[in-house]
Amino acid sequence: MKIVSVDVMQVPSGNAGSSRGDWCPVIVRINTDEGISGFGEVGLAYGKGWRAGFGMVQDFAEVIIGEDPMNIEKIWETIFRKTFWGMGGGTIVNAGISGIDIALWDLKGKALGLPVWQLLGGKTNDNLRTYASQLQFNWGSQTDKQVLITPEEYAEVTRVAIADGYNSIKVDPIVFSAQADGKGPWKITGPLEHRVIKTVYDRVAAMRKAGGDALDIIIENHSNTDTISAIQIGQALEELRIFYYEEPCHPLNAKSMLEVRNNVKIPIASGERIYTRFGYREFLENRSLHVIQPDICLCGGITEAKKICDMAYTYDCAVQIHVCGSPISKAAALQIEAVIPNFIIHEHHQRALNPESRATCLYDYQPVNGKYKVPDRPGIGQELTPETIAKCNIVTVSRAKKYMS
Ligand code: MG
Repeated sequence: MKIVSVDVMQVPSGNAGSSRGDWCPVIVRINTDEGISGFGEVGLAYGKGWRAGFGMVQDFAEVIIGEDPMNIEKIWETIFRKTFWGMGGGTIVNAGISGIDIALWDLKGKALGLPVWQLLGGKTNDNLRTYASQLQFNWGSQTDKQVLITPEEYAEVTRVAIADGYNSIKVDPIVFSAQADGKGPWKITGPLEHRVIKTVYDRVAAMRKAGGDALDIIIENHSNTDTISAIQIGQALEELRIFYYEEPCHPLNAKSMLEVRNNVKIPIASGERIYTRFGYREFLENRSLHVIQPDICLCGGITEAKKICDMAYTYDCAVQIHVCGSPISKAAALQIEAVIPNFIIHEHHQRALNPESRATCLYDYQPVNGKYKVPDRPGIGQELTPETIAKCNIVTVSRAKKYMS
């Protein structure tokens, strides 16, 4: 089997231009001379960078035309070692590698008639415990109000998530100020004003009270805090029995992360902005993380995520895959979470409830009673519908152009 072309597709799937910024999933489809195709995702649907990812995959696609798609490890190593910038890493390069790698695993699974979890070693988990993620934006498929301010609002959204079947939630209680629009003077790098710490504490205390002892609460800082403000907030929240504390400081500063870890009695989590084994190595060696959160569409794909998770296992680190993309990213995450023994919990993002996004793909995988069943379909078990593909902005690469040999 040979790779004959790669379609790079920008998917129109709702939310674009909303108050929360653009939503532009970039999907890769690798096509072969045997008529089998595989789908993968470049993990840049949010934030800024999707255009760069859209171009990056086109460049990498030139390197893989004519290759046997079953040689996934060889292709990964070729892009990493032979494109010059591959080893330089960073968000865009690794997002590009990831999109191609996921599509290759999907293709291989389809060629063999097996789900990817079967190819990775089989299941250790089937029912994946799942948390409702990013409750500061509210919870539900059609929410008008997307900025929660008062402790009462945080208590109410907790009750909504629990009624939806979850016994674990994640919230960023820091990003919005106490002002009605969530903006205003609100400095969250430290040292912190007392009113900031009190606002954050009151919101999380309201959630703990609303959910009781049966609820696990994950606190998410999005790296908006720095070392000292993260320590101050973490210490204030310790008594509320927090499950773990995510991206408390700069995501690539392993020494700052260790300082937070050594001063806060809450398990520390990070990883959506750490890429490849090489990126994780420093954080594992200095023991600053208890939970790693690689994003399969950013860390180097399924090939690399499995290695990162296995490496983390030797440091007693649990794994929660970071999931915030189209339904393709969700399907890829479920495959690897089914296999790894250090899986702890699955992330179901508020964005994953969006009806337009859900309608872009063939299957609508949603948790039931706060748990995910792992799909048994071949490959990653997900792809764009023909109707979605007809609406995409597509660039097709079909000519091989090697950079280095
Ligand atoms: Mg996060």
